[in-house]
Amino acid sequence: MRELVCIVCPRGCHMRADDDLNVTGNFCPRGEAYARAELTHPTRVVTSTVRLAGGLYRRCPVKTSAPVPKELIPELMELLGTVEASAPVAVGDVIVRDVLHTGADLVCTRQVPRA
Ligand code: SF4
Repeated sequence: MRELVCIVCPRGCHMRADDDLNVTGNFCPRGEAYARAELTHPTRVVTSTVRLAGGLYRRCPVKTSAPVPKELIPELMELLGTVEASAPVAVGDVIVRDVLHTGADLVCTRQVPRA
């Protein structure tokens, strides 16, 4: 039996899942889907920042456009340390396409004009 907290919404249901992935404690079906995914192939949307050349700010916030496998997050964070975007950037601009071949893009989450 595994215990986990649903992070899909702020309600934060405390759930239990048995070895056959029968889930209890979820208030809605999204919790069951989250629990099964978390126990078989956990993923996360990653948020961070990358260096920004020529901008009003020196870094720009980014996130993955979709959840990526949790086991790739250390490699992704290493990659982010090597990425440099160029100002101006706008919300939704793709900074790295298909990051680590996950199918997710790394996208900008803040508009930053040139300095
Ligand atoms: S199970 Fe449903 S209600 Fe409960 S935290 Fe998850 S999404 Fe929210």
